[in-house]
Amino acid sequence: MTDIKTAVVTGSSSGIGLGIAKGLASAGMNVVMNGIEPPGEVEAARKALETQHGIRAVYSRANMMTPEGPKELIAFAEESFGRVDVLVNNAGIQFVSPIEDFPDDKWQAIINLNLSAAFYTTKTAVSGMKARGWGRIINIASAHGLVASPFKSAYVAAKHGILGLTKTAALEAAEHGVTVNAICPGYVWTPLVEKQIPDTAKARGMTEEQVKRDVLLAAQPTKQFATVDEMADLAVFLCSDGAKSITGAALPVDGGWTAH
Ligand code: NAD
Repeated sequence: MTDIKTAVVTGSSSGIGLGIAKGLASAGMNVVMNGIEPPGEVEAARKALETQHGIRAVYSRANMMTPEGPKELIAFAEESFGRVDVLVNNAGIQFVSPIEDFPDDKWQAIINLNLSAAFYTTKTAVSGMKARGWGRIINIASAHGLVASPFKSAYVAAKHGILGLTKTAALEAAEHGVTVNAICPGYVWTPLVEKQIPDTAKARGMTEEQVKRDVLLAAQPTKQFATVDEMADLAVFLCSDGAKSITGAALPVDGGWTAH
């Protein structure tokens, strides 16, 4: 059997997920990319992973917001490469509104994508990892998995929830060579952050520049956005043998935000 590992990264057509896909490819893993974009829009990024890192990369548009999508994605990965060794649950969305106006469908969509999808992928992929005696599950939570901000009820609830799932799965897999951890980024400059600025400005009655300075980076003591590459480096480390005793952990990469 080949020694090349297979990594599945949900929501890897953009932002943090794409950065982690690049990191794992540079560590020599075949990569299963995923996102909502049509394959044509992701082709250049997929091909770049193959040509730059000498691995194979495939793309699936399975919808992580449904119970079926995560199962389809893991099945596609197993068909493509025979197994899943590394699972990164990263796909996520945000919606910003006071609770009393928060639309029911937005609540449900965020819970489905930011929390339930990780349950379904883990449920489907973990038995193979346990049987092979090696696996890595990395959940991309958030500083909002550890602390709250106003107007983000669904996101904060989902991200707190995924830390509970991380700990439970870590305990269940601990004797099988499988670690389960959560990375908790502070603000990272990606399309997800950029898109929420106008809504936050509206909800708080501020300009977009004020939102960046006084809301987003107000709680981040370094006063700098974290980078996608920093998230990728940590994910690669968590996949290494040096990280085999790190499990059930929520690891902040937030410029000191949650030290407050
Ligand atoms: P992004 O908007 O750049 O990318 C989101 C990805 O999710 C895209 O690949 C998109 O195609 C995919 N996606 C969206 N809906 C999907 C669906 N239904 N099915 C499958 N894929 C879907 O976002 P990002 O900023 O890179 O965020 C990635 C993760 O990191 C999210 O879970 C987010 O909550 C978390 N996070 C981000 C920040 C930040 O500052 N950017 C901070 C903390 C946590």
